[in-house]
Amino acid sequence: MGGVDYLLRCDACSATHELRTGFSLSFTFEQFVCHRCETLVSVPYEQDVVPGPCKACGFQLEPWRGRLWRDAAGTDRLEGPCPACFAILTTEDATELRRWD
Ligand SMILES: [Zn+2]
Ligand SMILES: [Zn+2]
Repeated sequence: MGGVDYLLRCDACSATHELRTGFSLSFTFEQFVCHRCETLVSVPYEQDVVPGPCKACGFQLEPWRGRLWRDAAGTDRLEGPCPACFAILTTEDATELRRWD
């Protein structure tokens, strides 16, 4: 159990995005995008439970086209498009990083 909370700052458009990764006993955090709010939304995702609309605006969430992985050194990495401007965000854009468990 556990994961990482990221605060990502996009170099290109200065937007900040919160991202929570990891898993618990019954769910995994999956990453979605609200294209209306232009934000990332981390949803605790249970099997067979489809995430609902954005809590802020009601727009249907879509899966984020980014990816998360663990590199050979055991460091959690991420890479994917900024929901606001589509520039690529990576782990290096994290201004804050906090493990939770
Ligand atoms: Zn929204
Ligand atoms: Zn951006």
